[in-house]
Amino acid sequence: MELEPHLTKLFINNESYISVYNPANGQLVSNQIPIAGEQDVDEAVRIANEAFAIDSPWRRMTNIERQMLLLKFADLLEANQERLAQLTRVTLGAPFHPFGRSEIGTAIGCFRYYAGWIDKYGGQTFPADDGVYKIVRNEPLGVVAGIVPWNGPLASVGLKAAPALATGNVFILKPSEKTPLMAAELGKLVLEAGFPPGVFQVLTGDGSTGALLASHMQVAKVSFTGSITTGKAVQVLAAKSNLKRVTLELGGKSPAIVFDDAHLENAIKWNVNALTTNSGQICFAATRVYVQEKLYDRFLEGYIAALRAKANVIGDPELKDVEIGPVVDKSQFDRIMGIISRARDNNEGALCYGGKALGEKGYFIEPTVFSDTIDGATIYKEEIFGPVVVINKFHDESEIIARANDSKYGLMSGVFTQDIQRAIRISSAVDSGVVGINCISTISFSCPFGGTKESGLGREMGEHALRSYTEPKTVLINLNY
Ligand code: NAD
Repeated sequence: MELEPHLTKLFINNESYISVYNPANGQLVSNQIPIAGEQDVDEAVRIANEAFAIDSPWRRMTNIERQMLLLKFADLLEANQERLAQLTRVTLGAPFHPFGRSEIGTAIGCFRYYAGWIDKYGGQTFPADDGVYKIVRNEPLGVVAGIVPWNGPLASVGLKAAPALATGNVFILKPSEKTPLMAAELGKLVLEAGFPPGVFQVLTGDGSTGALLASHMQVAKVSFTGSITTGKAVQVLAAKSNLKRVTLELGGKSPAIVFDDAHLENAIKWNVNALTTNSGQICFAATRVYVQEKLYDRFLEGYIAALRAKANVIGDPELKDVEIGPVVDKSQFDRIMGIISRARDNNEGALCYGGKALGEKGYFIEPTVFSDTIDGATIYKEEIFGPVVVINKFHDESEIIARANDSKYGLMSGVFTQDIQRAIRISSAVDSGVVGINCISTISFSCPFGGTKESGLGREMGEHALRSYTEPKTVLINLNY
């Protein structure tokens, strides 16, 4: 039998395997996903460092050749998007429309966007005003490990691999143990695109594999997306090993502030989509909504009506008209249902909509709305990472800025108003990496994305990401002799 090339490229000499299940029905998808162990990680890092050697094909590639490679890879992602989405969907549960297509679109867009940067990020020069001519070169770091979560497995690859490779690094992807299938398929596309061996590798595994990469002495950087707890652990491992560079994209509990003068339908549309896309399992989902007094009742009524209208698009993610699938797995389902029932039992707020599990099989949860929540309550303060929102009333601008900022998170916020001066004022006052005005829970390729406070460290996307994958080297040329 002739094996497909990617099957012989996986590191499978370890004896541990992960099992993955379909969250739409609870059935086993595979119990054969390899966990890369110490030997595997060492081998991948060794091969990556060889691929990064100064005289390697990768380092000798011209800008145009590297651009063509990234663009070809983007084309391959596009051509294979339905297959890639399906491989994610059978373990994540998100339907192709709107989430599957959009997360793959993010990955494709990242490779195209960063291909355009390849010949435009060389560095700077400064004149020999003092007799010394100065060159500042943006040099690649070396081996970059991308450790990604399950909720946007391919988008995360685009956000990390594209800028890493555009700046000349070599990249090792460690997908989440919950959604590993698409990443294994990516290996095949890497070969088809023609990346030199060792430039773009995939190591499946769980947290232990991630920890091996984060603590490896020959890995120069780890770009991590995931929970705050793991992000902190990754930073400790990085510091305790070789002080490798770290980018952290962590959690959020993003506030949306809706003023009395907001365009009501627009505010409802953005907020409801933010909660229902990928069943609320999005780091920058608007899950803490504040509405000014006069608009509050109408907003709440409209928000709930919009959720009710979506009730018939929740279901089997394989069906064409379904837009909202299950949450990722049983542990996530149990955690979210536990938070909902404790909030109800402890009177943490008024349950206005949802709150129940749906269907006989799989891990479906109704979009759930709590209003009038207690400020210190878990449902109000903590990231739930599911289809659960808290909606509260506010009185005036100074009060709402303080409340919006009273959080350990700072990933995204949104302000909904038709008063441009107020919108700009609030955008300065809120403490978050991204602020949407009359929109929320969205990103742009050309702009930095990332969080303040415990939502993260560093930025992805835009030119800022290039900075985090390069080290400036200053070359001083003495002309005075
Ligand atoms: P997680 O922290 O459990 O896992 C993320 C990744 O880290 C996985 O690949 C996992 O195998 C790996 N890992 C686990 N332990 C490790 C260790 N000790 N060392 C190194 N790697 C380790 O997160 P998750 O449950 O997969 O994802 C959900 C979280 O991700 C949420 O908090 C969400 O807000 C966050 N998230 C943030 C962003 C962002 O851009 N800010 C985007 C998506 C998700």
